[in-house]
This record gives sequence, structure tokens and C-alpha cells, in this order.
Amino acid sequence: MSAPIPDAAHRWRCGGCGNLTRFDVTRTRKTSEYWHFDLAGDHTIEETELRSEVVEAVSCRWCGRDDAIELVDRNSVQG
Ligand SMILES: [Zn+2]
Repeated sequence: MSAPIPDAAHRWRCGGCGNLTRFDVTRTRKTSEYWHFDLAGDHTIEETELRSEVVEAVSCRWCGRDDAIELVDRNSVQG
């Protein structure tokens, strides 16, 4: 089970080592895009709308644990 995505009042914390800032995130995103082709046939994506997003896994960049990532209140952690 992966950690929920933090909102404006929360952040991730690794319960294993205390890391607050670096995580590897594996996620699946479903998007709708506006592709604009030029005359040569190359394209740029000018708009992207996020339809849905599922976080598959979150692991700590420092200690590698993926079973200790917790959601904590931003105001409850120091630096
Ligand atoms: Zn860690």
C-alpha cells in the first residue's frame, strides 16, 4: 500500500530514517493532451489535462524503504 499524496497541509516523512525531502515516486497518470504539429510533422504538447493519477509506490531516497512512508502534518515537523 502506498502513501497518499500530500496536500497543502501535509508532507511525507520516512519513518525509517526521518527523511522529509527526497522520495522515489512511481505513479500512473492518465492525461488528455493537445498536440500541435508543425508543417514538418514535429509536435509540441501545448495543453495537458490530468484525468486521474494513481501513486503506485513511494520509497525513501535515502534508506530505500517503501513501507515506512507516512503522511505528517507540515506544522508538526521542524526543518
Ligand atoms: Zn528513509
